[in-house]
Amino acid sequence: MALIKDTAIVLRRLDYSETSQVLVMFTRAHGQLRVIAKGVKRATRKKASTGIDLLEMGGIVFSQRPGSEGGLAIMTEWRQIENFPLLQRDLSRLYAAQYAAEVTAQLTEVNDPHVGLYDSLARLLSDLGTRSALAALVTYLWQMLREIGLVPELSRCMGCGSPIVRDSVVYFSSREGGAICRDCEPSTVEKRRIEIRVLTLLQGLRNLAADGAPPSEFADAPRDDRTSDREAALKKAFELLDYHLTETMGKQARLRGPLMVILNGGR
Ligand SMILES: [Zn+2]
Repeated sequence: MALIKDTAIVLRRLDYSETSQVLVMFTRAHGQLRVIAKGVKRATRKKASTGIDLLEMGGIVFSQRPGSEGGLAIMTEWRQIENFPLLQRDLSRLYAAQYAAEVTAQLTEVNDPHVGLYDSLARLLSDLGTRSALAALVTYLWQMLREIGLVPELSRCMGCGSPIVRDSVVYFSSREGGAICRDCEPSTVEKRRIEIRVLTLLQGLRNLAADGAPPSEFADAPRDDRTSDREAALKKAFELLDYHLTETMGKQARLRGPLMVILNGGR
């Protein structure tokens, strides 16, 4: 079997046996990959090994039987590149990263590469250490939705096609794929109200670069009176995207609850 090299980020880790792990990775060139890592948890005499961590990034070498690309690959080598230690210092960063990993594992497929999304996830994991966790997460989720073809259309009504006017009442429908105007709202079953400041904020993400670099108007504002307003709008924007993701996945993300507790001021 040929050996394949790639770089990858660990999205999920499942304990398999005392000495092995089954990992769900997001690779740069091969999309999602499920691998068995034999012997990685074996402790040496010098240190107790805990294996490969969630959200760790590394260089991977793996083999896969031809024709079984959807199955479990065998990892033959893992070289850690980065383990994003800043994430461990703050629960909002950690949960935001874990939330991103969870929905990425849910919504991407084995052997379906998304190079731009991989780069965005890598950017998120390093940005979370320095930027507002919410700004970084909302930017990433927008990029992910764009990559998988589910980004909401917010400039015109999905019902009648008329332009969305910012001084009007606007709704959002996940099933319809975007904004719904006041006239079309009564005939739309699944919907929720979208605040204008959230609409404006998300519309700003249309200029997101392919690798997830945020547009300048979305970069972190200096700490002043507007910061708390912006954080509140970012939280609402996250809630809207989480709603869209919940409808799309048919279930709530497991990390949604813990993340919301932290965002609402719990510690
Ligand atoms: Zn309409």
